[in-house]
Amino acid sequence: GETLLDTAATLNAMHCDLLAVRHDQSGAPNLLAQKVDAAVINAGDGTHEHPTQALLDALTIRRHKGRLEGLTVAICGDILHSRVARSNIHLLTTMGSRVRVVGPPTLMPAEVARLGVEVFHDMEAGLAETDIVIMLRLQRERMGGQGGRGGLVPSAREYFRFYGLDAEKLAHTRPDSLVMHPGPMNRGVEIDSAVADDPARSVIREQVEMGVAVRMAVLDTLSRVNRPVQ
Ligand code: ASP
Repeated sequence: GETLLDTAATLNAMHCDLLAVRHDQSGAPNLLAQKVDAAVINAGDGTHEHPTQALLDALTIRRHKGRLEGLTVAICGDILHSRVARSNIHLLTTMGSRVRVVGPPTLMPAEVARLGVEVFHDMEAGLAETDIVIMLRLQRERMGGQGGRGGLVPSAREYFRFYGLDAEKLAHTRPDSLVMHPGPMNRGVEIDSAVADDPARSVIREQVEMGVAVRMAVLDTLSRVNRPVQ
């Protein structure tokens, strides 16, 4: 029940150097950053952004492809509720990748093309000749209605048929394409187990591993910035 400003005052009284904030309200870390002395790391805010996820995804891609520039990346599924999608769109377009978003019209934000992406509603067309496929979790908890059944998708089974990544759909991508997912995965909803667990294509576990490295780097960098120079 506390206001975010009171939370900020409490946290500030602890005189911490760094604050990692994961919040269900978009913009909360930004507000806190204005009110506390600590460096604030956005660890995911509402449906807005998840910057360290984008950094770890970029690191994972670069380890395999050696670059980000010129790659075609398809971000697929529940774009509407995905902070991961937004941060990845910003990072990847900035670094020269061609970004596509693929999903049903009900899960696509209005005006998403303004972010510099191509929009597809058909998986076969959206995946054609892509280097990287980023699958997103169907975020039912954000769909409202009873138990998150807000009617944005008819059923999990139908969603899987049209938008779930299986071997058949993956065959439309480049033969050396990578499969990614920020986790947690809904197997059989947005991704088939055979694809998620394919060691030749899936880098999902490596993303998690790179997440540790990237977040260590972020903490290290920010703690140096705030510390007086010796
Ligand atoms: N783990 C990611 C996030 O924090 C993706 C998800 O929850 O679906 O946004």
